[in-house]
Amino acid sequence: MLRRFDMGGKTHTLTVNTRTLQTKILPLPKRTMSCRPDSRYRRLLRLAGSPPYPLQNDGITHGKRGLYLTTDLCPSSKKGFEKRLYQAIIRRFPHPVPVTLFLTKRWIDRHPTAFETLRQWNRNGSLAVTWGNHTAWHHYHPGKALAENFVLSPEENLTDDILTPEKTLLERGVTPSIFFRFPGLVSDEKAVHTVTGLGLIPIGTDAWLAKGQMPKEGSVILVHGNGNEPKGVTIFLRLLKERKIPGLRPISGISAK
Ligand SMILES: [Zn+2]
Repeated sequence: MLRRFDMGGKTHTLTVNTRTLQTKILPLPKRTMSCRPDSRYRRLLRLAGSPPYPLQNDGITHGKRGLYLTTDLCPSSKKGFEKRLYQAIIRRFPHPVPVTLFLTKRWIDRHPTAFETLRQWNRNGSLAVTWGNHTAWHHYHPGKALAENFVLSPEENLTDDILTPEKTLLERGVTPSIFFRFPGLVSDEKAVHTVTGLGLIPIGTDAWLAKGQMPKEGSVILVHGNGNEPKGVTIFLRLLKERKIPGLRPISGISAK
């Protein structure tokens, strides 16, 4: 049991299956549910929260096999989104196509139509979306050192920044997942423990396509779905065309080494 919340006058819980890592909304159980300390979920959570704590790209950056597509939806003043990316994977792979969206509240608020399109693709079985958390506000100060930027900005209230987009999703009938991506991939030990303390697993990347990192077996691929980094999407579409992306796997299936 990750959270409890009131909806329609009734208390509900957000729960995680400790074997499949899938989340579900359930009525408040009469008995307390327990979680074995050696469950798959606990082990992954422990691994994600352990040292070292690099300033950049902490968390799970790759699995043992397959490829995992993650698309960040950071705040953006751009109209629309990278429709071509999602349409291409829908055309290319068997349905539903697994994809992770790392959403910010600011992006959802400003792009209701794009958000609805993604939900529609998820509802009609074209996509199997993992609704990931990329914080509500995604603080960013151009020119500032990383150690005082993103979630390390002085004004950051990380707990609130994480719980707020969960509420945004729940209010819209969407079930938040346990996967989290740090804005700018920047974090420190305290921030990592705040995330894992809320039961979430930080996901880094070893294939940020726009930075020239090419995917290999087990890679967590990062592109931006908000239109802010078209270069990465163009590279992904090229790899798709060249048949270098044989398939995609859901992030919930990741097993870190
Ligand atoms: Zn971002």
